[in-house]
Amino acid sequence: MAFEPKQAAEDLARAEAAIARGRRLLDRAAWTLRERSLEGGQVSASRLDEAQIACFDMALGFAEVTAARFAIGYAERAVASGAGEVEARFARLFAAESLHALRGRLAARPADYGLTGKEISAALDHDAVRALTGECLASGFLEALGATVIETGTTGAYLLDEQHEMMRGTFRKFASAVVQPLAEEIHRHDLLIPDAILKPLAELGGFGLSIPERYGGLQPDDRDDNLGMIVVTEELSRGSLGAAGSLITRPEILARALLKGGTEEQKQRFLPRLAAGEILNAIAVTEPDYGSDVASMKLRATRTQGGWLLDGAKTWCTFNGKAHVMLVLARTNPDVSLGHRGLSLLLAEKPSFDGHDFEYTQPGGGKVSGRAIATIGYRGMHSYETFFEAFLVPDENLLGGPDGEGKGFYFTMAGFSGGRIQTAARAVGLMSAALERAVAYARERKVFKKPIGDYPLTRAKLARMATSIAVCRQFTYAVGRLMDEGKGEMEASLVKLYACRAALQVCNEALQIHGGMGYAEETAVSRYFVDSRVLSIFEGAEETLALKVVARALVDRAEKVEVEG
Ligand SMILES: Cc1cc2nc3c(=O)[nH]c(=O)nc-3n(C[C@H](O)[C@H](O)[C@H](O)COP(=O)(O)OP(=O)(O)OC[C@H]3O[C@@H](n4cnc5c(N)ncnc54)[C@H](O)[C@@H]3O)c2cc1C
Repeated sequence: MAFEPKQAAEDLARAEAAIARGRRLLDRAAWTLRERSLEGGQVSASRLDEAQIACFDMALGFAEVTAARFAIGYAERAVASGAGEVEARFARLFAAESLHALRGRLAARPADYGLTGKEISAALDHDAVRALTGECLASGFLEALGATVIETGTTGAYLLDEQHEMMRGTFRKFASAVVQPLAEEIHRHDLLIPDAILKPLAELGGFGLSIPERYGGLQPDDRDDNLGMIVVTEELSRGSLGAAGSLITRPEILARALLKGGTEEQKQRFLPRLAAGEILNAIAVTEPDYGSDVASMKLRATRTQGGWLLDGAKTWCTFNGKAHVMLVLARTNPDVSLGHRGLSLLLAEKPSFDGHDFEYTQPGGGKVSGRAIATIGYRGMHSYETFFEAFLVPDENLLGGPDGEGKGFYFTMAGFSGGRIQTAARAVGLMSAALERAVAYARERKVFKKPIGDYPLTRAKLARMATSIAVCRQFTYAVGRLMDEGKGEMEASLVKLYACRAALQVCNEALQIHGGMGYAEETAVSRYFVDSRVLSIFEGAEETLALKVVARALVDRAEKVEVEG
């Protein structure tokens, strides 16, 4: 049947109405959880923690429903431009699957959300929802969409403006020509990323994506450009998560922390060299005893003549061998009762080292040493356990100068907000690479005399994979645009949470479609699978984001809503 834009627009409007019904149930759930966690008129964190299981599912449901809303908006734009057939199918399938999943989440423990089975049915058995799920979850719909994906490899139009499309094209070419051919060897032999990647990436400006032009970066001086950083990260991660896409996360976090809290002198001293790739950096926040609980970090910084002495251990400091500067979160005030207010950020400088171990002794005797932790994936930068012994950091390297003392937690969070949206983009790039391989294999591999792509089940898998990618990509772009307007902090956590879970599923399916070959090291999808596993652990573990950021924000802003039933 020929595509009819008018019909597609009406179908999308109906999908939006269906999603609004799910959203209302979630609003009610948030209100209930709020009421139950109040203590003296305020939401009590410990009481809310008692409802973690409900909060986690509510956050996931909210992530899906929000992603569906953005996906519908995206498809509407595509349809308005006269095209949009496949985009509309992606958006409607995603909306239908989100509502189907939401029913399961809420119906599993309705009382936790202050809902009854009747209320859930009244909302989700409504004609608007039934029409959507009835059509889009039908085998024929999935199979037909899968056939389109196999034929064209599409994950929907990007709908970028000319400038961002140009950036995307440039870094896509670089990732295909330079990164992809080296990625497997780096992974299989656990090598450090070679200069063959680092140098041209620096020349393209890849290290300065979030650094304003006045400090030598690519970002316009008068506005943020998160979208530029996102499209570049996605393309580099399509080349390799460990050997390219994640390279630019460290300068991203450091640049944001410096822009938020650094003195002008510090910005002038570090940002241009970071943007040019002349200095590389590591982020040293996590400690052996503390990861998610950032406010409790205990590595000591003791005042000394002209600076601070670092003593203690950090762990998982990615790229710390190669780094010239480490952004270290340290306790500059020994009074532990101060909690996060006793923490500061220090820019600790050292020479760059290759290899799995390093050790550096300062002229005055201070020492820093590191040992790479062997990992199942995410190879290329090495992540180091790092030990500091009376390591001197001069006063001028306390981020923010004397005024920055005690503000390290806030500056770290400012850095991490960029890391989160970027990690969502990393997830999208990785998934795209996995889908490309899966589509190619489904076309060529014959089982029982037919290409596996001819079977309905394979087609349904590929339809869902392409849908995930289209939706996560557009969700990430939309949140990037929100961040450009100074908004979207919670949404950055939301899209990170969702896209990283989706990447794990997509990479898992890509491996499965390859059968036994998917389990072979020589096949790229086995690398994508192990690489994807890390995404929901770092840059905010998914539990921390779901509970402490998303559920907390939903509960904080919840208002009373009535539901039918
Ligand atoms: C490959 C890799 C690279 C990394 N690179 C860096 C880096 O460059 N710099 C850096 O500083 N760190 C880095 N990290 C560390 C990463 O940020 C931490 O692993 C992450 O913050 C989780 O901390 P943790 O490992 O201590 O887990 P923990 O905090 O011990 O958490 C363990 C588990 O408990 C869950 N959990 C936590 N709190 C709660 C709660 N309240 N309720 C229920 N469950 C909870 C967590 O989600 C997790 O599943 C890296 C990690 C990896 C694996």
